[in-house]
Amino acid sequence: MGDIMGRRQTMQEKYKQQMKAYRKKRMKVENTPFLPPDGNVLVMDSLNPTKTLKAEVLKTQERQHRQVIIHLACPECNSPMDWDSNWEAFICTKHGKKSIYEIVSND
Ligand SMILES: [Zn+2]
Repeated sequence: MGDIMGRRQTMQEKYKQQMKAYRKKRMKVENTPFLPPDGNVLVMDSLNPTKTLKAEVLKTQERQHRQVIIHLACPECNSPMDWDSNWEAFICTKHGKKSIYEIVSND
């Protein structure tokens, strides 16, 4: 009997941990790069924030009835870039120096 109780507690503990991880993940998703309604994406080089550049959207995915940008072409070398949720930017490592492109809202 004590064994069953112990196992139930372990399951509860496991569930709680999973929920915690899930919530953390959801929080991270909050900074997801959504596609602007007009489809035009402007980015800014974080290390050289002097001008905005137009970036080509290569792939989007529908998430919660909104289009999320999955891959954006690097304005420098056209390589597909992935979103980095830690930087909250698209990162390119393909053209020598690492570039961090933040999305600029165009309004
Ligand atoms: Zn590049």
